[in-house]
Amino acid sequence: MAEIVEKTEKKSRVPMPEQEPKVRARNFLEVPTGYTVKMAQEEAERCLQCKKPGCVTGCPVGVDIPGFIDLIAQGDMSGAIRNLWSKNALPAVCGRVCPQEIQCEGKCIVGKKDAPVAIGNLERFCADYEREHGTGDLPPKQPPTGKKVAVVGSGPSGLTVAGDLITKGHDVTILEAFHKPGGVLVYGIPEFRLPKAIVAQEVNFLERLGVNVECNAVVGRTVSLDELFEQGFDAIYVGVGAGLPKFMNLAGENLVGILSANEYLTRANLMKAYKYPDVDTPIPKGKNVVVLGAGNVAMDSARTAMRLGAESVKIVYRRSREEMPARGAEIHHAEEEGIELFLLTNPTRYLGNEKGRLTGMECLRMELGEPDDSGRRRPVAIKGSEFQIECDLCIVAVGSGANPLLTSETPDMRLNKWGYVITDPATGKTTKKGVWAGGDIVTGAATVILAMGAGRQAADSIHTYLNLGW
Ligand SMILES: Cc1cc2nc3c(=O)[nH]c(=O)nc-3n(C[C@H](O)[C@H](O)[C@H](O)COP(=O)(O)OP(=O)(O)OC[C@H]3O[C@@H](n4cnc5c(N)ncnc54)[C@H](O)[C@@H]3O)c2cc1C
Ligand code: SF4
Repeated sequence: MAEIVEKTEKKSRVPMPEQEPKVRARNFLEVPTGYTVKMAQEEAERCLQCKKPGCVTGCPVGVDIPGFIDLIAQGDMSGAIRNLWSKNALPAVCGRVCPQEIQCEGKCIVGKKDAPVAIGNLERFCADYEREHGTGDLPPKQPPTGKKVAVVGSGPSGLTVAGDLITKGHDVTILEAFHKPGGVLVYGIPEFRLPKAIVAQEVNFLERLGVNVECNAVVGRTVSLDELFEQGFDAIYVGVGAGLPKFMNLAGENLVGILSANEYLTRANLMKAYKYPDVDTPIPKGKNVVVLGAGNVAMDSARTAMRLGAESVKIVYRRSREEMPARGAEIHHAEEEGIELFLLTNPTRYLGNEKGRLTGMECLRMELGEPDDSGRRRPVAIKGSEFQIECDLCIVAVGSGANPLLTSETPDMRLNKWGYVITDPATGKTTKKGVWAGGDIVTGAATVILAMGAGRQAADSIHTYLNLGW
């Protein structure tokens, strides 16, 4: 133990190599470039191999973190990725986008005195190493059960359900509304944070296992849940996400040049604007851009606007830096890339010209008052502090709601007052027989790993149902 502690004190966290801010702010290539084998092993050696690892308690899917890190330290990369896969079907994704700082790394004992072990970077390393050097062998599958499962939505929760059930021998079909599978991983999170090729590879892995992926299938419109049962499906998982954009209902919201982050990022991602200037996607390329909101979606929108050639990009947020919901690393990256933060600032109306185009917005300065229902200090307007910001594009990233497309067509599946599906928290069962739900359509906008955790829980329950009944 003494020797290990000494080792830890001497070695500080191995930094993740990154593209230079000035260079990357104008390209869509991934920002962090990944650990080498040497870097990964050096970082793996910082792990104390705790008997009661705090990191594991911080992981929503219970990855054996000391176990996979030890295998990296020993040079057994194939063992390390297999260890990861046993709990997490999408390590290449989670290593890149999970909020490790508040999950596993937030609970790492090394973090008490030094920077915590870089668990996310090591997870990403394992997945990337397997992609580049692995055998591509598929995990073993149980013999066919003859049972058919439909998974509606191909986001992280749907992909997890599909992966778990196909290996248990069931016949699985994913039905996805968009023309590409992956959910927010593809149409929301930009290329520079999560390359599309990585998500495509995860989907391809499932297809090789035998999962049937049908795109352009809008369940609730092209086919109902009851019709899916009539077609012979024995169980259905609903993982349709929470992609309905919210606006602020300010005067002038219909001006040309104001759009939701959802629409902006979908155009940028699914319609290949990230290949700009090689692909000329119809997407507004603002000169002076304002993004409203301060979560990951706002950071992704602001950083995308910068890469599409904006001269200035401002994030306008009514609270202070401490309350910004985005990951610290994303805020840091955004600022490094030249994005300005207008904190304690609240927009009050949009300004436009005679052609109906956005020219700016009026804002008020705010100060923090008493805590509100969310426990965060309530922003209070400072009288007479009005000022104007010039802009020709405003991207609204102030949250999203439940998409009613499927749920409104399924009256026997109960919803809560916000339109999210009510489920049994232990199983993911909905009030409609044979139907499970999970991910953002149950919790509201959350995280990739929570959506995956819900998928795994539901897959276990579906498997039990297919064997034993409801
Ligand atoms: C821009 C952005 C950035 C984010 N960044 C992060 C991050 O860094 N880290 C993190 O952990 N989380 C992040 N999140 C949140 C995370 O992506 C979501 O919590 C997660 O994707 C939810 O997964 P899901 O499977 O429930 O739904 P989704 O990923 O939303 O997938 C739902 C899928 O269902 C499809 N669908 C919808 N309706 C139908 C229908 N009627 N028929 C068929 N298909 C349908 C949709 O097209 C979609 O493909 C981010 C979200 C956004 C929008
Ligand atoms: S808490 Fe930190 S040091 Fe301990 S096992 Fe987990 S990663 Fe290693």
